Amino acid sequence: MGSHARVLQETGVDFKEASSAEPKAHAKLFQINNGLMAQHHYDDLRVLLEGSSAYCASCHKICQPPPERPDLFLAGFSCQPFSSMRKKHMKATPPNKHAKFDALPLVVEYCMKRQPRLAVLENTKGFGCEMEIDGRRVVGCEWLREQLSSVYFMSWVSLDLRAWVNVRRPRLWIFLVHKDTGTQATADAASSFAVEIQAHRSKSSPESLQRDYMLHPGTPDWEREALAGQAGSLEPRRRKTSSAVQASWQKQTDKIRAEWKAKGMQGSESNPLAAASLRGLTGTEREREVLEVFLMQACFAQGCSLLDDASVQAVKAELVADVSQNLSWLRPEHGGVAGVFCTESRVYSFGHDRLVLPQEQLAAMGWQVPGQPSTRPNCSGLSSTEIQDLVGECQALPCLAAAIWGMLLSASTKVPGLWAGPSRSCS
Ligand SMILES: [Zn+2]
Repeated sequence: MGSHARVLQETGVDFKEASSAEPKAHAKLFQINNGLMAQHHYDDLRVLLEGSSAYCASCHKICQPPPERPDLFLAGFSCQPFSSMRKKHMKATPPNKHAKFDALPLVVEYCMKRQPRLAVLENTKGFGCEMEIDGRRVVGCEWLREQLSSVYFMSWVSLDLRAWVNVRRPRLWIFLVHKDTGTQATADAASSFAVEIQAHRSKSSPESLQRDYMLHPGTPDWEREALAGQAGSLEPRRRKTSSAVQASWQKQTDKIRAEWKAKGMQGSESNPLAAASLRGLTGTEREREVLEVFLMQACFAQGCSLLDDASVQAVKAELVADVSQNLSWLRPEHGGVAGVFCTESRVYSFGHDRLVLPQEQLAAMGWQVPGQPSTRPNCSGLSSTEIQDLVGECQALPCLAAAIWGMLLSASTKVPGLWAGPSRSCS
């Protein structure tokens, strides 16, 4: 969805994005709306790989991707085959039998055929774990290294957005340096730089999702209208919960309620969200219970009493919770948002008493400079569900920036002038 182009634009790198590939119509519209379209844009990575003629969304006609060797190749490949979320199912369906595995061999083929000087790849942390590929046990990253080792040096590292806002988004970043461009030390330096850049940024104070990224009642009328319309139109996602998970959930809930009662909370204080309207949520018992229990935990963690309204308001002002997550993921010490912003994230803001809109999640992932609403991404023509899908697809920009800068810094010390000319990339 043009995240890499946005990062390079914002950081002032002189680049030319020659070609990109992205099949989703709403992602393309987002790129066009925000001036992030590559010079040639196709639906399928195979077009870039084969250099064949295909419909180009930039030229609005059939054209051929430019044949020049790219300086930089940026790609994500589907996370689902490697996700630790499906560990139980991995035995029945090993990653390479998964329907979405095919993107990975395509990325390998692209590197071997087009020989980009540098490449930055991204995937879930699960790709760094041992799994079965082609009938043998191997760490995903090691498998990839084997595939590319004749031509590339490789290094990888996990980066987490948590340094920027109170959201965890651990992702594995893979750095590839062509053997005619650098050494193993160049690839390793890219990893180290990325970690250092992120660590440096984490020294600034963490920003609050509610304070800095959500639209406030004082925002212009048109924004409030959009907000009112969209909070109601988000489609709820329903998942079946196993009885074992339900039992474990009930146990945790009972435990915290008992603890709450032992502290003397009775009657109306026993339901801290009785007056909440929970705008944008479906209003199921489970959602309400998740939020109540989570708020109690947060109050415990901060030593606050629900009998003291001012201290509860202070906790609420900073508190958000993702009701799409299991309760065990919802820990107040994580800053409120459990896990990551993804396609399924349904993040409730206690301070605003409503669901966080997907465009606000985009803002928190770097698509807005705090205090400068004019830099908010243009989402016109997209439904809330489509924007939420982009949230899931989109890189958290600070994380991506750290990775790209890590690569540029390490390579530019080895290859002076590499970035002087127009560079090319594809997504
Ligand atoms: Zn074109």
